[in-house]
Order: sequence, then C-alpha cells, then structure tokens
Amino acid sequence: MKHEAKFWRPGPNQSVFCFLCARKCKIPLGRMGACRARKNEDGKLYSLVYGSLVSMAVDPIEKKPLYHFWPGSGVLSIAAPGCNFSCLHCQNWSISQTDVAQVETEDVAPDELIRIAKRADAQGISHTYTEPTIWTEYAIDVGKLAKREGLYNTYVSNGYITVEALEELAPYLDAANVDVKAFSDDFYRRICGVPGITPVLQTCEWMVEHGIHLEVTYLVIPRENDSEKEIGEFCDWVVEKLGPDVPVHFSRFYPHYKLTDREATPVRSLERAAQLAKEKGAKFVYIGNVPGHEFDNTYCPKCGKLLIERYGFVIQRYELRNKKCPNCGERIPIVGERVSGQRWFF
Ligand code: SF4
Ligand code: SF4
Ligand SMILES: [Zn+2]
Repeated sequence: MKHEAKFWRPGPNQSVFCFLCARKCKIPLGRMGACRARKNEDGKLYSLVYGSLVSMAVDPIEKKPLYHFWPGSGVLSIAAPGCNFSCLHCQNWSISQTDVAQVETEDVAPDELIRIAKRADAQGISHTYTEPTIWTEYAIDVGKLAKREGLYNTYVSNGYITVEALEELAPYLDAANVDVKAFSDDFYRRICGVPGITPVLQTCEWMVEHGIHLEVTYLVIPRENDSEKEIGEFCDWVVEKLGPDVPVHFSRFYPHYKLTDREATPVRSLERAAQLAKEKGAKFVYIGNVPGHEFDNTYCPKCGKLLIERYGFVIQRYELRNKKCPNCGERIPIVGERVSGQRWFF
C-alpha cells in the first residue's frame, strides 16, 4: 500500500533525501530509492510497500535464527518486496531484487496482521525474508499493536538501518538477528552493492546498548570471507563490542543466484570458525544449515552440560531450570520462556 514515509527531508528541485537506511539516497522527482520500496511523488517520499506482503508463514523462532529468545515459539513471518542490498548470493532474490509492481502482493493492515498472528497461535511477528528496514513504518505500527496484545516483534536484517530510524523503532522491537556478511568493506562493495560495513556494526552495537536482544549470523562463503584472519577479526569485534553472551551463528553457504561458481561451505570450515569464536571468548556459538550437528545445541559455558538439544529447528531436549544450568547453576541468558506444543499452521 502506498503510505506517506517517515525518515526523509526535502532536497533541491523537489528531490528528497531518505535517511531510513545508511544508503541515504537522494531521490529525484518521480524516481524510486535504491531499495525500490520508496518513491518521490510531488516532492514527497512515499513507502510503496506499507503492508504489501509477498510472503507470510508461521515459522519456529529457531529458523530466524533466534536461539536465545522465546525458545520453541511460533512466529508469524512476513516480507514485502525489495531490498537495499543486491547480494550476489541472495536466496530470496525473486522477491528482494524487484518492486511491488512486478510481484503479487496482498495488502494487510497492521491490525489484520495481529489478528492473523493470534489466530495462528503465534507468539510474535518476524519481519524477515527480504529486508525489513525498508518497511520500518509498517513494522513500527505493527509493533505498537503487537505490544498491546502481548506479542513480540522481531527483525531479521542486514543491519543497514540508520540510528535515527532505530530510535523510533526500538520501543517496538524486541529482538533481531543481524547478518554480518563478512568483515570487510570490500565484501560489502563487491558482493552486496553497498559502500561498506560500518553501519552494520553500528546497528549491532546500538541494539546491545539499548537492550534489544541480538544474535548475529555470519554466512561463511568459501574463498570469499572464510579466512582465519577475517573470521578472527569478526570474533574479536563480537566479544569486545557486543559481549561474550551474544549468540553467534556461523551458517553454511549454498550456491545461489549469481554466486554459483563455488561449492557449499565444507562443514570443517564452519567448525574452524566456531572453534575460533570460542577461543576468542564467545560463549554461545552455533553452526547453521547443518542439521544434527553438535554445534546446533546449547551447552553450559561453565561446565559443558548439554542444555538445549536441537535438530533442525526443533527442540528435542530442554534441560534448563529457571534459565539456569541444572548441573552447576550457571545463569544462561535467554529472553522469554520456553514454549512447547507449538503447531505450525495458520
Ligand atoms: S531505505 Fe531505500 S530509499 Fe531510503 S536510503 Fe535506503 S535504499 Fe535509499
Ligand atoms: S540483504 Fe538479504 S534479502 Fe537483501 S539482497 Fe542481501 S541476502 Fe537478499
Ligand atoms: Zn553448567
């Protein structure tokens, strides 16, 4: 739905400056921003994707992945078309590298979305699949209603949102998984089509400082971002700037879209990355996209006891008692309660 945008100011000759994301597009009259989700009409900026949903499903929260947030809960997951990045390996390129005029969408007002979530017995909402930053106006309105109804509101994001937008979103955002796609400006320029990594790191640090539950995902791509040096620098940053309690997910790459000239990530590369993160001091390190791997589980960082056993996105065993290790009493940082018996439909 077309909707007046926030986060912009007028420029010369009826252009507008958008500051929703760190691309900070200057948009001439009649044109769209780089994300193809915002348009300058008559010298005013409009969101073209407010509630224009291209995907909707109830997922386990573990699929986001969020492993330390309402474990086992069901989350109504939605997306609108477009993205402020153009990653060569985008899994969802058919809905991210397009605009609302090119794909079929369904208009869903915020109150209707909340009704759908409640009917589906979901515990919250996830803005995901493409890039939620670009529909932040909608996410704020959804978040306000979600809060009133006792539902959580989450982002799975590339982290390119500005602090100005985050400040307005933060009261209605409970958790986020942010992709740190590499640890170099060069990768962000060549592979993602944006100027550099700094805004992503700033977003993560801001979220931790402001009490938004954060988990980070690093997709390990062979011969692209998998060197020990780069992963080591990423881990140093996580531990120093975000803290050792922030869960880190090293995820397996599969060839997609325009990045098909290399193989899936060898499991031993993921294991090396995970080992390095632990050596650097990260307490909760996971390997994603390798179902059944022992690093899919949560272990007590003090005594090593298996606390949460997962297979894929499903919890098989949950040993925590009052968020503490039953063996040594170590407190494990988990937001919310475990939800069991979730049904995946709506
Ligand atoms: S949200 Fe879209 S229009 Fe706004 S700065 Fe980012 S890419 Fe440009
Ligand atoms: S940020 Fe995510 S949705 Fe956007 S192009 Fe990259 S992988 Fe695709
Ligand atoms: Zn323990």
